[in-house]
Amino acid sequence: MNQPPWEGLFPTLRRIRFNLKLRNIEPLRIGVGRGGDRLGAPVDLSVYRQQVVRKDGGGYKISLEPVIPGSSLKGVLRTASMALAASCGLEAHSGVGGDDCVNKIFGNTKTFDEYRGERTPDDVRSALRGFCPLCLLYGAPNFSSRVHVGDFVPTTGARVGVKTGVGINRRTGAAQVGMLYTVEYVEPGAVFEGSISAVNTPNWMLALLAGSLLAIGQGWLKIGGFKSRGMGRVEIVGVEFKVEPVKVEANSCLLPPLDLEVDEPLSLNGCRVKGYSAICGDAAAYRLLEELATAWSSKYCSKLRELFEKRRKTAQQLIEAYQASSEGEGF
Ligand SMILES: [Zn+2]
Repeated sequence: MNQPPWEGLFPTLRRIRFNLKLRNIEPLRIGVGRGGDRLGAPVDLSVYRQQVVRKDGGGYKISLEPVIPGSSLKGVLRTASMALAASCGLEAHSGVGGDDCVNKIFGNTKTFDEYRGERTPDDVRSALRGFCPLCLLYGAPNFSSRVHVGDFVPTTGARVGVKTGVGINRRTGAAQVGMLYTVEYVEPGAVFEGSISAVNTPNWMLALLAGSLLAIGQGWLKIGGFKSRGMGRVEIVGVEFKVEPVKVEANSCLLPPLDLEVDEPLSLNGCRVKGYSAICGDAAAYRLLEELATAWSSKYCSKLRELFEKRRKTAQQLIEAYQASSEGEGF
């Protein structure tokens, strides 16, 4: 069976993009931390702001507005994917502090880089297939993420509110004298627009990504700080999905398998076909998200669990053989 080389990012075999609109239904607080606050800011804990360019009559206007940084959303997405993968018994690394496949399989990034530089492309791909779904999708040290999350910018001006909090003494449970602080947040109801794109995601990876997006959109995971104090819940109010290349057969359009041992063809019903691309608007795109998320838990998860052990063993054998051969050098 000749597998398309989906394990790396080159060549580009598939490109996908989700254009999303997220609305916060609870106050939203993505902070800059005390150290990052603007000098002389009137509040203790400001929200993160960025320059946003907007059309203004015939010209443009630049204003400093609260945004959801792509890095924040990507972090929450990875957490959602970890929960989904771990709950079906798959290995799932956070990518933080050495908790990743490069360190777990190769021992360190140097060995990983040397292996990549010295072994055949087939051996490198076999080793990468032994990576956990999380590292394959979101990256590991010296191994690029295949998912890119852009910044999410308010569609119209988002209103910022300020709240005064009272520090609580953890021992007595009473208010602590002299511990008043002010906190900024985005008022509920703001709509943020942005996109998530990815390359070389087999259909099973797309299913994991879709399940993670829905977990956030359904409020299982929240964004930003003060989550336990009723902040950070968002909902999906708009979604468009674009993918290429697709396969057009008779009257249907399909996303063909990429990881041939796991993937099943995905039917893109209700999507517009333009050349090699399919564009799915709101209703069709949301249905697709749901279908993919269901496919993750009903099919892909158990299929991968069985296959993953085999793939990991192959990867480990290759690396052990490589390490044994490089230890022998110089004698
Ligand atoms: Zn991993």
